[in-house]
Amino acid sequence: MTPSKRIHIITFGCQMNEHDSQRIFQLLYPAYEPTDNPADADLILLNTCSIREKAENKVYSMAGRFRKLKEQKKDLILGIGGCVAQQEGERLLQKLPYVDLVFGPQTLYNLPSLLQEAEKGHRVCRTELRQDFHIPTLTTHTPNAHPFQRFITIMQGCDNFCSYCVVPYVRGREISRPMEDILAEVKEAVRQGVKEVTLLGQNVNSYGKKEGRSNFAQLLRAVADCGVERLRFMTSHPKDLTEELMRCFVEIHCLCEHLHLPVQSGSTRILKAMNRRYTREEYIGKVHRLRELCPEISLTTDLIVGFPSETEEDFQETLSLLQEVQYEQLFVFNYSPRPFTTAARLPHQLPLELKTARLTQIVEMQHEISRKRHERLLGKTVEVLVDGVSSKDISEMAGRTRGNHVVNFKTADDLTGQTINITITEAFCHSLRGELQIKG
Ligand code: SF4
Repeated sequence: MTPSKRIHIITFGCQMNEHDSQRIFQLLYPAYEPTDNPADADLILLNTCSIREKAENKVYSMAGRFRKLKEQKKDLILGIGGCVAQQEGERLLQKLPYVDLVFGPQTLYNLPSLLQEAEKGHRVCRTELRQDFHIPTLTTHTPNAHPFQRFITIMQGCDNFCSYCVVPYVRGREISRPMEDILAEVKEAVRQGVKEVTLLGQNVNSYGKKEGRSNFAQLLRAVADCGVERLRFMTSHPKDLTEELMRCFVEIHCLCEHLHLPVQSGSTRILKAMNRRYTREEYIGKVHRLRELCPEISLTTDLIVGFPSETEEDFQETLSLLQEVQYEQLFVFNYSPRPFTTAARLPHQLPLELKTARLTQIVEMQHEISRKRHERLLGKTVEVLVDGVSSKDISEMAGRTRGNHVVNFKTADDLTGQTINITITEAFCHSLRGELQIKG
């Protein structure tokens, strides 16, 4: 039997990319086995993100670092995939003469044949986007797959064209997978011992809309019936958050009480310029309704500061929205112009210093809000699914509540993958600490 080659993947960006990398491992296994050490690899792939300029620049510096390795190891294949690859295409091969292979988020499924070409010494670029693209069902279990948590793609691409976002250009238009394909993958995951499933897509709430098939709430119910212990999803667009979907948080027991609902700005004027298609009031109205139905729900969000023409008044509206909504956590970024997008061509781009000052103010305010939100859990006993050793302190383990709060705790046993009860004793702005409850 020919020994397997080794593959090392470096993933940038969002969970969609993390998941795509896992699919690449599945596609190429067992011909290629995963390795954590790039020096041991026969194939190195960079799965890239172009959502922000910073992320894109990182790709070039990382590719440069492998140039030397490539000179030492003649058979090594170096490939670039993901959103930067889709955006740049052939230009990447021209700019980086030591790169062998360029592929996009759709053409990653052609990797076995693309690699055969690259192994023959050809430099290959395949980045077409097809509307009739079908996301394949992959159930191969690879050695590096998470044994009890699984991400499952339910749709790919986006039709929303938010004015700052490059995703519709690099991931193409929205395509939803047939429900039977998704359920087959969920059932196989449950059979393999997976406890927590996260359904992924750029805009999961519009699942099936275009195809005129089942909607997202119906999909959630069907997935719940497959026997998963915990169910999550991301990302949601506020305009597509329906009453039916909000009710799922009450009616589907395994659906965790956490919703990531990107708001992007607290100013209706800026939201309009962003082409988000909801107002500040509509967004807040949905948050109130959700909390009415499910008071324990934890909310997180994304924010962009310094969108072109954002005034001090617009910024103050964002701060007041944060105070009103009281998110558990937020992910905030400086606006950076992206290729192809309409916002990149808008006048009144803001200076970096102003954007950074506003970002700092938001981060400081949110720290205080997060800490207070977490303090509400003090003294309560919560259900935690244990992820593994804590990244903060190797003498502790860490897991997540159904509300997606990180909880660190001491234990002499390895409880990875177990669902346990923890009583919360300390609250910080990014995490909680607690004591393990011994089952009686
Ligand atoms: S909804 Fe807007 S921000 Fe999200 S992927 Fe689509 S275009 Fe980008």
